[in-house]
Amino acid sequence: TFRIHIASLGGSGWRRAVLLTFEDLSEQRVTERMRVDFVANASHELRTPLASLLGFVETLQGPARNDASARERFLAIMREQGLRMARLVDDLLSLSRIELRAHLAPDTPVDLAGISREIVDSLTLMARERKVTLKLTIPPEPVQVPGDRDELMRLMENLVENAIKYGKEGGEVAIDVVSGASEVSVCIRDDGPGIAPEHLPRLTERFYRVDTAASREAGGTGLGLAIVKHIVLRHRGRLTIESTRGEGATFRATMPRFGVPARGAS
Ligand code: ADP
Repeated sequence: TFRIHIASLGGSGWRRAVLLTFEDLSEQRVTERMRVDFVANASHELRTPLASLLGFVETLQGPARNDASARERFLAIMREQGLRMARLVDDLLSLSRIELRAHLAPDTPVDLAGISREIVDSLTLMARERKVTLKLTIPPEPVQVPGDRDELMRLMENLVENAIKYGKEGGEVAIDVVSGASEVSVCIRDDGPGIAPEHLPRLTERFYRVDTAASREAGGTGLGLAIVKHIVLRHRGRLTIESTRGEGATFRATMPRFGVPARGAS
């Protein structure tokens, strides 16, 4: 699709100079479409817990006004719905902050090995609840990338949390930090049911879930991998996802080492 702009550059009669510009609208269209879809999805995701919250408020004000046991149960559900909305708003804010800074390459040296250790420590309790063993392998020396510490913590946290949530109950999650000559990578592997190939290309889209009910049950917002992808891209890296049905999934984020000049830089 093209839009044609016509501008008169002056002159008159057959000497009139006219400038014709052809503008390709297809890419702009796609971006606009994605924005509209995103707003619709976000609104729907917020609307659902909000409707439930309001429904319980009305029940508590009306039919269940004097029912003490119902009150306790309903308040617990309302708290859960409120927390779900809060998680969603937090994730939406994180995503837009990361996107706003997309053009600014982070440059502080951050040790991925240290971050991985911290994340494993902080998720030990969550892993224990699903009887999952976390197995961390890191090189003896620090593994530095030019980065943003908070974002890299978030990246590791989202990937390890997903491996615990969607991996096998009683299984193992392996976290490997690998240091190469010009690049470093973190690799998170679980031994759960894995992901069918048709889902893989869409997994990092906002609100894309393989199993919506399972994601909600696990407290997911559907934004975790979109956040991970944007963090990796801002760090001039790449994210690869591999999975064989029944044999778990592997998420690998690869980024340039600290001190290695950006490709194309002199
Ligand atoms: P959510 O908040 O739903 O966890 P994510 O963006 O983090 O959102 O993940 C998107 C979807 O990808 C999840 O809902 C789940 O279906 C799938 N997924 C993510 N990690 C794994 C994994 N390690 N194994 C199997 N499925 C996964």
